[in-house]
Amino acid sequence: PTSVTVVGAGLAGHATAKALRQQGFTGTITVIGDESVRPYDRPPLSKDFLAGLTGVSELALELEDEALDAQWVLGVHAIGLDPVTRTVALDDGTLIASDAVVIATGSRARRMPGAPAGVHTVRTLADAAALREELKPGVRLAVIGAGFIGAEIASTARGLGIDVTVIEAAPAPLAGPLGPEMGRVVAGLHEANGVALRCGVAVAGLLGTERVTGVLLADGTEVPADVVVAGIGAVPAVEWLEGSGLDLAAPGSGGGVVCDAVGATNFAGVFAVGDCSAWFDDVRGRHHRIEHWTDSRDRPAVMVGAMLGHPPTTPLRPPYFWSDQYGVKIQFTGRRDGTEEVTIEAGSAETHDILAVYRRDGEPVAVLGMNQPKLFTRWRKQLSGPPGRVVPSQSDPSPTHP
Ligand code: FAD
Repeated sequence: PTSVTVVGAGLAGHATAKALRQQGFTGTITVIGDESVRPYDRPPLSKDFLAGLTGVSELALELEDEALDAQWVLGVHAIGLDPVTRTVALDDGTLIASDAVVIATGSRARRMPGAPAGVHTVRTLADAAALREELKPGVRLAVIGAGFIGAEIASTARGLGIDVTVIEAAPAPLAGPLGPEMGRVVAGLHEANGVALRCGVAVAGLLGTERVTGVLLADGTEVPADVVVAGIGAVPAVEWLEGSGLDLAAPGSGGGVVCDAVGATNFAGVFAVGDCSAWFDDVRGRHHRIEHWTDSRDRPAVMVGAMLGHPPTTPLRPPYFWSDQYGVKIQFTGRRDGTEEVTIEAGSAETHDILAVYRRDGEPVAVLGMNQPKLFTRWRKQLSGPPGRVVPSQSDPSPTHP
């Protein structure tokens, strides 16, 4: 190709432009983004940025010397794609045709319909800034959903001395990604830090008309709140591709753009990376959408290698994510499906420093670390070992997160 259009100016969009230049692409790179700012890092939005410890300038993903030489088209929304001519339609009427298109539109926070003022979701810098403004001393915060974002916001708010209630329909926080046993360990972490945890109960509705005053639970109890955060998951931002002919996964299976194991879609010259993409996972034997920072950063280099026809070299590592809660670094890698046996190999639930291994038929398939960085790294290497599928070469962009 001599021209590449990247739709989505987030982590995966930025990593795509970077990988193109690192792998010798000298043509035109156009990056389209609907936020008006250059790519920035989202993990601090629920952590240090929300706590007021990190400023906007520290979130920038571009390094001064990376010479992307890209054309940035920001503050505009892609509304359609013709995958045959690889033409992207923008909401200002512009049409951009190129030799290759990379879809990197990420995901959006799921919202509660009809929510009054004071109910927040956190996906963008603007969202986090708006929430930060409301997290003043004396405020009562209710967090709906104890997934990663909800759990981290609860942790940050406790750090600011705010009263926090976390409401989770599942029996424990993070029970989905970590399983119920390790979810209970995370529950202990919240409780040890003064969070009122209400697990196993659904939300029936929000209280208040103009401004939220609390959350009504399905068991009839009311949780009074001045501010509410809905941490109820994210949906892939692919609505603009509906009807384009591009293969989209059913929402029930996680949704996203269906790709092969290197990010190619069902149209030549059209690729997808990051949160919005469901790559084929050889190990699971199915398409799978991953919403983690490290995968969104690393997979674009694999996809670019395939786009430019470079010979395959390095196997992709198993999915990995981390989360910071109450000063504890939670790290997880591997693929669990809920059928595994979990054993604690080091540390204890009481001291929140567990190393837990998930085994299926006796074989380790996933590892969880809580404040166990060294042991975790050793296990991560072991899980990344052969057998691995060979994919186009991965560059190793300098890591900004562990
Ligand atoms: P995004 O970063 O969402 O970027 C996509 C961009 O495309 C956005 O700017 C979006 O506005 C834009 N866009 C969407 N639709 C269109 C359109 N039609 N036209 C133009 N532009 C469009 N992961 C971890 O592993 N560990 C963590 O601790 C962690 N913490 C997180 C904390 C928060 C608050 C959030 C929100 C996420 C966190 N993540 C974490 C997840 C990680 O940030 C994401 O996996 C990553 O940002 C995905 O990158 P992406 O480029 O695919 O999507």
